[in-house]
Amino acid sequence: MALSGLDIYKLLPKTNCRECGFPTCLAFAMQLAKKAVVLEKCPYLSNEAKAVLEESSLAPIRLVGIGKDKKIELGNETVLFRHEEKFHHPTAIGFIIDDSLSDKEIDEKIDKINKLKFERVGQALEVNLVAVRQNSDKKRFIEVIKMISHKTSLEFVLISSDIEAQKEALALIGVSKPLIHPQGLKNITVFANLALEYKTSLVVSSPLLEEISNVTKELKKQGLEDLILDTTDKPLAKKIWDLTQIRRLALKKKDRSFGYPILAIVNEKDPYSEVIKAADYISKYASIVLLQGVESWQILSLLTLRQNIYSDPQKPLQIEPKLYPVGQANEKSPVLVTTNFSLSYYTVLGEVEASKMPSYIMSVDTEGMSVLTAWAAEKFTPDKIASSLDAFGVKDKVSHKRMIIPGYVAVMSGDLEEKSGWQVVVGPKEASGIPSFLKNLK
Ligand code: SF4
Repeated sequence: MALSGLDIYKLLPKTNCRECGFPTCLAFAMQLAKKAVVLEKCPYLSNEAKAVLEESSLAPIRLVGIGKDKKIELGNETVLFRHEEKFHHPTAIGFIIDDSLSDKEIDEKIDKINKLKFERVGQALEVNLVAVRQNSDKKRFIEVIKMISHKTSLEFVLISSDIEAQKEALALIGVSKPLIHPQGLKNITVFANLALEYKTSLVVSSPLLEEISNVTKELKKQGLEDLILDTTDKPLAKKIWDLTQIRRLALKKKDRSFGYPILAIVNEKDPYSEVIKAADYISKYASIVLLQGVESWQILSLLTLRQNIYSDPQKPLQIEPKLYPVGQANEKSPVLVTTNFSLSYYTVLGEVEASKMPSYIMSVDTEGMSVLTAWAAEKFTPDKIASSLDAFGVKDKVSHKRMIIPGYVAVMSGDLEEKSGWQVVVGPKEASGIPSFLKNLK
């Protein structure tokens, strides 16, 4: 729990000796509360005060990594609702591969998983994990891990309660720091030792929150803190309740035994229900979601949802304001004007590409606001557009002086013509009208 400056002051020696570089202990406490100075600057702290202050500076939900060099970072969240601040570490999306599948089925599944790469509003959307689940004997489990490790660059989750199978799997791919999921608490201390030996993370799974809390406390004493929580498979409402309770207990009640990322496995045969469940878990605090479905229509929708939830609500997604050529744009190509809000730009881009007419799109710096919002906030003004034409050297790229503005801001046409000296053509209100508009442009 973060302490206030006054709470910290109460723990300091209050001698005002100035050795920390501050005139008083209170001044030092205030800076410490703002994290503008480190604890070690005061050499006179008692061990007790040091322990309290160190504990208070820890994140309420631990940052846990999976993969070599902690390639996937999870947790370290600080709020219940994204409008309060933002969610920091996007849910890792992964796929369960049961070792009971045939080699051919596994190959086909991996091929599909490897193709799950998308681009949306200028960002790459990718999946993160493969989870090999043991249903057969140890030999088959290891065989499948070997087979998959040659065919994917995704990080691994090893789902098996068989200690010997986990040991062998870790001997094989432990260097890549897979997540160990022992599917329960049986032999949890042995699995914890394995996680410590391979410096990797461990899933603590139980249907009971109390049991999870007791075990994480014990494992912490054992020296293992890179933990992920799983409340096992439950009906949707119960699972959402668990996920919400854990987040609340960690953030609001400051209960460190729940301060870890959460994993949710979707076991649904119907592909639509599977996506709905996965979407619910992404929305409500799961740091890892594992599912069976690998169809692009399923995964694109989940990745899009994740992208939206984990963007900063106070900072719209934006692109660099500049002049973008589309296709083989030349001096005769039309110049379309829009804002640097990613969604506006990429919607216009999609329609210009669909028109197959080489063009220029001038993206004006509106601090990431969309057309109407920027216009209302006076960020998309005739002055701004005119100065962007100069700044981006548009007149050196085209031999005409004609620009197309969005239909929603037709009202600025006259003023814009005056300020820029360019002819202004009012384009369609909706981007979907761009292809036919460009085809009929004379
Ligand atoms: Fe107070 Fe410690 Fe700073 Fe001295 S060094 S003024 S005791 S905070």
